[in-house]
Amino acid sequence: MFTPVESMKLREESLKMDGISEKTMTEHYKLYEGYVKKYNEIMQKLSELKDEDYAAANQTYSLVRELKIELTFAVGGVKNHEIYFGHLGGQGGRPDGDLLQQIVEDFGSYENWEKDLKATAVGARGWVWLAWDHDYGYLFNYLGDSQNTFPVWNATPILALDTYEHAYFIDYGSARAKYVEAFLKNLDWKAVQKSWGILLGDECGCDDEGCGCEGEGCGCGGKCMH
Ligand code: FE
Repeated sequence: MFTPVESMKLREESLKMDGISEKTMTEHYKLYEGYVKKYNEIMQKLSELKDEDYAAANQTYSLVRELKIELTFAVGGVKNHEIYFGHLGGQGGRPDGDLLQQIVEDFGSYENWEKDLKATAVGARGWVWLAWDHDYGYLFNYLGDSQNTFPVWNATPILALDTYEHAYFIDYGSARAKYVEAFLKNLDWKAVQKSWGILLGDECGCDDEGCGCEGEGCGCGGKCMH
């Protein structure tokens, strides 16, 4: 059994950005909704597999194989876009606090991180993720081609940059580097920092405005509203 997922809503601010048009965002959102629909459809089919389907599993072609492969494409389409849409509509700038400190530690400077991100984005065929590697303890700009290629186990993405043409072709044609500039200009670092806080153990995901959580031990330090 599985629980169907529902589409996230686009942030109002992300429809009024300078550099990434409302048209691009609404068309892009339709693709995301398609991934949500397909994720639910494939999970439903997996939940209905019969004994003969399991018995027929085969590495060249089988229902189990095809469903499980396409599931990774669908679920990548859901999760990557939720990070992407969730941190667009901000004012750009730079991160601050311990996230900036970690970026400086792992890349040498914010400028180095940005240089690496831009080059990774131009070199990717689909996605770029700034992710925290829990095993090795560093932030890294990982490159993904499709949305289900090259994820790294036990690394959590806190920033996702969609470099598929559908993310920028309406606004920039083939000039992807200009789109990456626009992405950075509209990035909401507070949302990225919130994800950073959650993966470090602040279950409530506190930010400067506080989280409003109750109880002890949420790890918010002085920022919490309770
Ligand atoms: Fe996309």
